[in-house]
This record gives sequence, C-alpha cells and structure tokens, in this order.
Amino acid sequence: MAANNVALVTGGNGGIGSAITRRLVSDGFRVIVAYSPAEESAAQKWYRAEEYSEKDVILLPMDVTDTNGCERSINKILATEKYIDVLVNNAGITRDAAFKKMSASQWVDVINVNINSLFNVTRPLFPAMCERGYGRIINISSVNGLKGQFGQVNYSTSKAGVIGFTKALAAEGAKVGVTVNAIAPGYTGTPMVEAMKPDVLAAITEEIPVRRLATPDEIAAAVSFLASREAAYITGETLSVNGGLYMR
Ligand code: NDP
Repeated sequence: MAANNVALVTGGNGGIGSAITRRLVSDGFRVIVAYSPAEESAAQKWYRAEEYSEKDVILLPMDVTDTNGCERSINKILATEKYIDVLVNNAGITRDAAFKKMSASQWVDVINVNINSLFNVTRPLFPAMCERGYGRIINISSVNGLKGQFGQVNYSTSKAGVIGFTKALAAEGAKVGVTVNAIAPGYTGTPMVEAMKPDVLAAITEEIPVRRLATPDEIAAAVSFLASREAAYITGETLSVNGGLYMR
C-alpha cells in the first residue's frame, strides 16, 4: 500500500510537540499541527520561527476538547488529504494541587484536555485508518500516570487513562493494521520544566537514575520509531522514556 506520509500531531507546537513535528518532518512526513485556537498568534509566531512551509507543516486551529469542532476539522482534512497515516495525541495540560484543595475545574480541565481529547480526535480518524488497513496512533502518557504523583491526582488519573485507551483501541485496530501505542515520558527539558526553581529541578534530577532530564528530541525519537512501518508488530504497548525513573 502506498504511503501518504501525513501525520497529525495535537499540540505539535508545544515543548515536546515541536520536537515531534521536527522529527516527523525529517522522517518525510507532512505534519498537520493542531493548536489551541485561543493561541493563534503564538502558533503563527512558532511557525515563522521554525521556518516551515506548507509542504512540510500545516497549522490547524483545533481545540481538542471540542467534540464537534474536532469532527468537523478532521473530516475536512480527510476530504483533502486522502489519508492520515499517523496520529500523535500529544496535547496535554497540568493543573496541579493537593487533592484536598483541588477544585472541580482543575479536575475537569485536565480530564477534558488529556482524556476527552483522545475520543474527540481519534474517533473521527479511526474508521478511515481501519478501512484503509493502515494507521499508527501514538498517545503521550506520562511516568506519573504509571506511578502516581503527589499534587497530580487529576493528571495521574488522566495519564493512566491514556494507557487504558491505548490498550483497548489496540485490540480493535490490530486485525486491520492499525497500531495504537503510548509513550510515557519522564521529566523532559521543555521550557516549562526548565523554568522550575533550580533547587526543585536539582531534587528531581537527583532521583533520575541517568541524572538528567530527557530531551524533547529523545521523546520524538520514540514517536518516530512507533510511527514507522517497522513497528508494525508493536501494539497496545507503553514505551517508557524516563531515564530509569520508574523501573517496572
Ligand atoms: P506544552 O505545554 O509545551 O505542550 C502542550 C501542548 O498542548 C501545547 O502546544 C498546547 O497548546 C496544547 N494544548 C493544550 N490544550 C489544548 C487544547 N485544548 N487544544 C489544542 N491543543 C492544546 O507541554 P509538553 O510539551 O511538556 O507536553 C506534551 C505532552 O507530554 C503532554 O501530553 C504532557 O502531559 C506530556 N508529558 C510531558 C512531560 C514533561 O516533562 N514535559 C513529562 C511527561 C509527559 P497551547 O499552549 O497553544 O494551548
């Protein structure tokens, strides 16, 4: 079957997302980067800074929490792009608070962006992948979805949910050539993480067996592998990229 080499990456202009987009472009994909419509000017600025052109990256304003909006946007893409080969569900947020103090909106916002997005974005794409008999779906979880983290009951719940979603959907895609996998990054050196107080960052790094943060490129390399044709026999798996932080 001919490859179309089109990938959709949600939050593909964020810290890790930018590295995923760059890597998939260098792997020969045309990447559709979905970004928050509320962040239009930041997305345009990012696009110019990365010096992309329409032949390698297309910007798509799409709020991943908007079920109908995602369906409309994805149907529009499918009408022009023939196929989407690879979907990377990367958009995610944190709204940290000790559970005793966690507000309903902190809970709901995280569940909406980190979990409901999986339905909103994947549901309109999955039937086309199954019908074609090819697809790669990669969902970004987190080490904190595997081990839990103080102050992140909402986030850890959502990232553990990403793994359940991955395994269940993998069972539905396996027979028809659609693989579904998760990546569970450890602490990664995005601008947000690097902006933490130096003493907090030092304490985190001290606990990581390899004694440093992951680079966004290291997460992107794992995405690149799972997105490749060679990864056809891997599905329902969660690949930890965490410097040995949580050895199962
Ligand atoms: P960033 O905040 O840099 O990137 C998150 C991206 O998601 C942004 O581009 C953001 O866009 C987008 N996004 C958020 N809400 C929406 C929405 N409603 N609709 C569309 N896009 C949205 O974070 P990271 O790069 O660090 O995180 C990327 C993924 O990796 C997340 O799923 C995160 O949970 C996970 N992860 C990160 C780790 C780390 O150490 N950095 C460790 C483990 C997992 P915008 O800013 O424009 O809203």
